[in-house]
Amino acid sequence: MAHITVIGSVNLDLVATAPRLPRPGETITDATFSRHPGGKGANQALAARRMGADVRFVGRTGADPEAALATALLRDAGVDLAACREDPTVNTGVALIVVDANGENQIVVAPGANRRLDPDGVAVAASDTVVCQLEIPVETVAHAVARAAFSILNAAPARELPPQLLSACDVVVVNETEAEFYGERLDDVALVVTTLGAEGAVATRGGRQVARVPAPQVETVDTVGAGDTFVGALAVELADGADLTDALRLACAAGALATTVSGAQSSIPDRSAVLDLMART
Ligand code: ADP
Repeated sequence: MAHITVIGSVNLDLVATAPRLPRPGETITDATFSRHPGGKGANQALAARRMGADVRFVGRTGADPEAALATALLRDAGVDLAACREDPTVNTGVALIVVDANGENQIVVAPGANRRLDPDGVAVAASDTVVCQLEIPVETVAHAVARAAFSILNAAPARELPPQLLSACDVVVVNETEAEFYGERLDDVALVVTTLGAEGAVATRGGRQVARVPAPQVETVDTVGAGDTFVGALAVELADGADLTDALRLACAAGALATTVSGAQSSIPDRSAVLDLMART
């Protein structure tokens, strides 16, 4: 079984569904409300766990009621949360989301404790396979990448990075928008995996394609969580020593399945569902 350490964000999404989005200064009073655990780090940790890996999640929450809600599905799934500590001086990361009848949204994120995940608080062993994203301080990502045996960076959301961080990673995963943002800076990375939505994914080394797989055709409901599911699944397969094309195939099937159910963590499939889909398509 693969052992994966995910170092990243954990949030609680507070979602109001309203007939329309408010204009500045306007109050809309007939929304319905729901709460969902999220954050790219937590989503990817859960995806890796549901693919069958032994997963340790390193993160920060506040010492508030949102913390338990934000980590609930990780806990239920058996992700090791010993290194997901509370900081009583800040809030658990929250995303305030308003969605209208057409699915259009407005989002405000208050990252709170995610910003406090400092390098000193993050122990990485030389044998670790680590997975990071960019919703935590970049110094912490650099610290983890420098120490791990094998590092996978989902360079999302796209942001300016210190020189050499991308090329220090063993694998960088981006979507098409992020690939455009980083441009030639990806050419020095050992392996770049670019997700292409319904088209699947492509792997490149030094700008040259080394593998490409299509995504299975599915009935897509929403694509929330597809990218995170893809990253978690890819990490497990690569940590297990799978062939690159096989790893991409499983990650694409996992990402595709995540689009058939709405929401982020609720849409992450388990391994048996992914293998079923692969056998059928
Ligand atoms: P992001 O959501 O981060 O922008 P993508 O849209 O590229 O990432 O999706 C990530 C992965 O999810 C894709 O590589 C693919 O495997 C799967 N996926 C996304 N959208 C679809 C779709 N409409 N049909 C099938 N698979 C999809």
